[in-house]
Amino acid sequence: MLKENTEILYKGTEDREGSLHPETPAIYPSSAYIIKDTRDYDFANNGGKYFYNRTANPNRDGLAEAISYLENGESTLVCSSGMGAISTTLLGLLKCGDHAVFNKSIYGETIELIEILRGFGVHVSLVDFTNIKEFENAMKESTKIVYTEIIANPLTLVVDIEKISKIAHSFGATVVVDSTFTTPFVIKPLDFGADIVIHSLTKFFGGHSDVTGGSITASNEIIKKLKQSYLLLGASLDANSAWLLQRSIKTMGLRMRAQLDNAVLVAEALSKNPHIQCVYHPSLENHPQHALASQIFSYGFGAMISFSVENNREKVDEFIRRLKVIKYLGTLGGIRTTLAHPATAFRNEFTEEELTKMGIHEGLIRISTGAEDVGDLIEDLNQALEVFNKAQ
Ligand SMILES: *Cc1c(COP(=O)(O)O)cnc(C)c1O
Repeated sequence: MLKENTEILYKGTEDREGSLHPETPAIYPSSAYIIKDTRDYDFANNGGKYFYNRTANPNRDGLAEAISYLENGESTLVCSSGMGAISTTLLGLLKCGDHAVFNKSIYGETIELIEILRGFGVHVSLVDFTNIKEFENAMKESTKIVYTEIIANPLTLVVDIEKISKIAHSFGATVVVDSTFTTPFVIKPLDFGADIVIHSLTKFFGGHSDVTGGSITASNEIIKKLKQSYLLLGASLDANSAWLLQRSIKTMGLRMRAQLDNAVLVAEALSKNPHIQCVYHPSLENHPQHALASQIFSYGFGAMISFSVENNREKVDEFIRRLKVIKYLGTLGGIRTTLAHPATAFRNEFTEEELTKMGIHEGLIRISTGAEDVGDLIEDLNQALEVFNKAQ
């Protein structure tokens, strides 16, 4: 008979798998799995079975299968954050002396990561991907990576991913797309020639602002290559978060349709408000890539809308405080409509001159539409926009 101090370590922990048929999957937080003998170790270590959590986990594998399916990809690595996915991809594919071409309108932290790549001797060109000539001129024989988002922050410019991929491939470069703003319900970049599609799962995939994660989807061959940087950089997601994301993905289609429909209606309503100078959303006919977006997007035009009001920080603050339904916070893609202020988000990283070049001023506001009643959203925005009536 084992003593209590030993028994308590094992009591009730046996595998109940065979007798259970749960409606939702179990969570496997185990950092490691029990091995039968040294041959079993070899089998496990070669990927034959679960072995160590950083290497493989059942919750991550279940989530990876669902993301591969949504993106029409062969294989997916599930990462601890969107930045984990981006750094795993770039550090895994680029080496000293390589050249990479990045769209200059991308997520701010991705631009900061470029500085780290430069420190490692990677040559980087930042160009405007909506100008195909400018993009083509930046390509070189040594270009290994072409990197872009499809709806670019903060002015919602849309990139012709099919054209970009064709040109990139003629130089033998790998095309990486961060599709966080678009999601597979709007566009599946791999179908348009991209080689790798990345997501911040923190946003629309999670959808409830309660989980952080990222993903990399590509061919088996590319994923095999990236597996090394993934494991060595320690970018794998924990089991609880993977489980939450598996739950979220089931309602993602429902959420996305509601959020995308709301975005079109909110953009239309905003463009009629006299206090607004300009609304940036690909659904609007005056958007520079409206025709392209209509052609390549399978549903909606993205749930991100930007608009500009008077360039006056005081009034913008009053506008934000006046909103009753819409909340100002540092994320996007949730089921509730949220607001961001690009000038404040970038204030510490870029000079005013750089911000102006990026089209950012105090009066630029970005919202991510949720699934509320659209009438409530429009009323909330219209009543708060009244602050721009007052002379100051
Ligand atoms: C949020 C975001 C990221 C980074 O994702 P994290 O999960 O916060 O690391 C990358 N790209 C885009 C477009 C994003 O919106």
